[in-house]
Amino acid sequence: MGGTDQVRGTRRSTAAANGGGVTRNLNSDTVINLDHGDPTMYESFWRKMGDKCTVVIKGHECLSYFSNIKNPCWFLEPKLEESIKSLHGAVGNAVTDGYSIVVGTGSSQLLQAVLYAVSCDQPNQISVVSPAPYYSSYPEIIDLVRSGLYKWGGDAHGFDKDEPFIELVTSPNNPNGVIRGSVVNRDGGILIHDLAYYWPQYTPITSSLDFDIMLFTASKCTGHAGSRIGWALVKDKEVAKKMIKFMEVNTIGVSKESQIRVAKILQVVADGCKRFGSPDGDNFFEFSKSLMSKRWEILRETVKKTRMFTLPKYPLQHCNYTGDVTQAHPAFAWIKCKEGIEDCEKVFRGQNILTRSGRRFGSDPGYVRVSMVSKEEDFDMFIERLSVIQSFNNGDGNGITNGNVNGNLD
Ligand code: PMP
Repeated sequence: MGGTDQVRGTRRSTAAANGGGVTRNLNSDTVINLDHGDPTMYESFWRKMGDKCTVVIKGHECLSYFSNIKNPCWFLEPKLEESIKSLHGAVGNAVTDGYSIVVGTGSSQLLQAVLYAVSCDQPNQISVVSPAPYYSSYPEIIDLVRSGLYKWGGDAHGFDKDEPFIELVTSPNNPNGVIRGSVVNRDGGILIHDLAYYWPQYTPITSSLDFDIMLFTASKCTGHAGSRIGWALVKDKEVAKKMIKFMEVNTIGVSKESQIRVAKILQVVADGCKRFGSPDGDNFFEFSKSLMSKRWEILRETVKKTRMFTLPKYPLQHCNYTGDVTQAHPAFAWIKCKEGIEDCEKVFRGQNILTRSGRRFGSDPGYVRVSMVSKEEDFDMFIERLSVIQSFNNGDGNGITNGNVNGNLD
């Protein structure tokens, strides 16, 4: 990362000049938005790839609603199906043999499709739970249209009703990067595995997963959030059929242009990721893992010096993909303020850094979630400002709020 040394140099000098115990703003007018997990960090890799992923779609192409009438998922572009299979095969993070693939407009739409599919034949409205801290969009997605089929049931740790339930298992978890399994852990539950971050740049790949329902997204895999492509791997054909029905009624399929673009990108990643140490530097996961681990190293070093915050620790594990023993480098930092500071978000707002409060994840406002996948200049500025937040910061907040900057996205 180009700015690394520069950041280190700046941090040392500002910390020394700071003398400890005071708060100073650097470039204080610029607001850094690390509330969303907008994956712009990956732009530099894709720029380097030049025209390798360019796709040209002519005016006469892609008119039909249909992509493949022989596939029950008739709106799935065959090239996307192929590239999804090659990518999982090359990385070894999920099994695709015997699974139906359903494409969606992001995994957000697929989550709604799967909730419909597993609840539409239930006699009663079913609770959907996830252990806190859970992905902050779940309660919103689940309760937005006040479906009669399902409702948000809150923190799975507290779910003790003797009735059927759906549990969302997010692994690695957003916001805290932890590898998770079901916590309700009893019969009568339907598990949906949200595996948006189960890729080598974020976590060691320890096995090829084969859960009944697995959700993935291009947004966090390659950084192409704007294409809005997600995919579900579904074991039960009847569940897949109902998801397809939902997609038909909801949006009559998924944009072909987006599918064709993402098909190309996933194939380029799948082909490049079999080569390690190539002089072309075309292994996307090698590039992104190295960038994430450098960012985490800088963050940990800075956090240690502030003595204001703590970060989660992750175990060392063997990654079957890279062959290394490594720890996780999550897409978000789950930062805890030291004892006595109740509103961690406010402390960061005092430095014009927008983060997402732990409260939004069903957790404690003493925590914030900070995106680690921003553009380099934002990350560097974040580190610079973080380094001058010292123990006596009273976090007066400067009156900036997250509410008017699409605070619910992502
Ligand atoms: N699941 C998790 C855990 C996420 O963090 C996100 C967004 N980053 C999504 C699902 C939805 O992703 P998208 O709709 O962009 O595919």
